[in-house]
Amino acid sequence: MSRVLLLIALLVAGGCSDSGRLSGAARGWNVVLISVDTQRADRLGGYGYQRRETSPRTDTLMFDAGVRFARAASPRGATWPAMASVLSGLYPSGHGVVRNGYRFPDDVPTLPLVLKDAGYQTGAFLNNMHKANHRGWDEFAYESGNESRLVSKAREWVRGLDPSRPFFLWAHFFGPHSPYHVAKLLDGIPDVDPSYDGPVKMGKVALDRILRDGIELGESDLEQLNAFYDGAVLATDLNVGRLIDGLRGMPGAERTLFVYTADHGEELYQHHGYLYHACSVYETVLHVPLAMVAEGLFPGAASVDQPVELIDVMPTILDLLGIEPPAEQHGVSLAPLLARPDAPNRGRPAFSQYDDTAIRTVLSDEWKLVLNPEGEVPECVPGAPGFSYPIEEVELYDLAADPGETRNLALERPELVRELRRVIRERFAALTDRSEDQDIPEDLRRELEALGYVAN
Ligand SMILES: [Zn+2]
Repeated sequence: MSRVLLLIALLVAGGCSDSGRLSGAARGWNVVLISVDTQRADRLGGYGYQRRETSPRTDTLMFDAGVRFARAASPRGATWPAMASVLSGLYPSGHGVVRNGYRFPDDVPTLPLVLKDAGYQTGAFLNNMHKANHRGWDEFAYESGNESRLVSKAREWVRGLDPSRPFFLWAHFFGPHSPYHVAKLLDGIPDVDPSYDGPVKMGKVALDRILRDGIELGESDLEQLNAFYDGAVLATDLNVGRLIDGLRGMPGAERTLFVYTADHGEELYQHHGYLYHACSVYETVLHVPLAMVAEGLFPGAASVDQPVELIDVMPTILDLLGIEPPAEQHGVSLAPLLARPDAPNRGRPAFSQYDDTAIRTVLSDEWKLVLNPEGEVPECVPGAPGFSYPIEEVELYDLAADPGETRNLALERPELVRELRRVIRERFAALTDRSEDQDIPEDLRRELEALGYVAN
């Protein structure tokens, strides 16, 4: 064997042993998937937030106990598309749920379905998306906005299960979604100014009005807004802690893989005076937390610093459980990174899409490219015709130097733009596209609108 071939063989063997070490290592384990709606990564203590304490329990139970992915990317700043990607391993164009309220296709396998076929007991406990139709749930419970009741129901369900078979539990918290009502659970929201009398209020009508009337927010308004958001993060952290603590106290709990993530983040007036998420293509919304804990399998308090995507969650879980993934998966297993969090960068970029438009983003090393080739101006806040969220045809940001994505460098770096444009084109060229217009039933549309969910 030549020296080069020998080197390649050693590299391949090395790669396999890293991934192989954890492939199937959690065979027969329970899986708990916790997703927190609208949870920005950078507002959690485990991701360096220091302004206020927002996540003491999640920090301890998830980030200190397992592997934290520092740069996890959501494929879309909207709940249904993003969570369908977590549950299918496909980009929104792949599963077709490109908007909130769209139906998931019957012929595409889901994570709960694959696990059910493998003998798992499956249960979904959701604070929203109660009409989402991902197949494979034995139990499908909905608690509109009430996180505390959601936790009680989930724990009760686990207590009643057949202990001889593993379970897959998905809990989706309403979290810090506007208008931040969950913060009312707290015994006083930290740093909220009781004498404040401005436009920022804990109510959808007031927040909508800021966008509709183009009300300019000053420092005291933003203080109040951020205190509401952080208060909601802290209240949800309590409930996430209750869920994990409760499950940890049950028999067989040591053989449980915990996955914690979010569907998308939130803009809190960072771009174009915007307050929600569905309009945004920026890291405020696309950068989400992701952490995995499995007692004795991964290192604790470890961090993976290279980009990963929410579409990687399903292949990773299946790889750890030793279950064959469906043939069509856009994501890859992160098991090699769980085994070796400081592994060399694989050079895999992270992508996002935007409804059924041609808008795409790519995150590659420190660079972020936003493409809007058709110059679309999507209607992202219905009922606010005066509000616009312009996306340039090409936007390029240096995230290391400009994490707030405020200086578009596209004109200064044409070669880099060309290269990243090619990366986007090639990524999606070979993938099946199931995105097509769907009529959302009228009752569901009204419900989504009431939640502020049709477009934000
Ligand atoms: Zn959401």
